Amino acid sequence: MVTRAEYAWHVLDTVADPEIPVVSIRELGILREVNERGDTLEVVITPTYSGCPAMGQIEDDVRAALAASDIRADIVTRLAPAWTTDWMTDAAKDKLRAYGIAPPHTRAPSDNVVQFMKPRARGESVACPQCGSTNTTETSHFGSTACKALYRCLDCREPFDHFKPY
Ligand SMILES: [Zn+2]
Repeated sequence: MVTRAEYAWHVLDTVADPEIPVVSIRELGILREVNERGDTLEVVITPTYSGCPAMGQIEDDVRAALAASDIRADIVTRLAPAWTTDWMTDAAKDKLRAYGIAPPHTRAPSDNVVQFMKPRARGESVACPQCGSTNTTETSHFGSTACKALYRCLDCREPFDHFKPY
């Protein structure tokens, strides 16, 4: 017996990110919760960053997928806690790499403690999704979208996007 909430999770796993169509909003961690609320469900989504231009599109896509499956739900956009790339599944990172986008780094466990913002270490290596080389350089801090930086591989010479860690 599949509950309504489980069914909704399943349906919403088919909703792709509008900017990166190979990963679903569930895999990216945008889909946070599905709660039973009497006759209807409550679907909670958190944008990758507030003001993300794709958010309206994601909400529309979620609404359309639910309607197509006859699921009655209210969609709640929750901004706190803020989305982090830590919510992205490993499967999503593999798909990003296969799509030609270097995934964000997984944070070391020691980074879970509260610490002051430190400047990003220079020369922090981002592996080329094409050839795996870490001999890469950032050519622009803002790539095709604000959440990605543009990189270039110095070995295979291919440019690629890096999904910046948050
Ligand atoms: Zn390369």
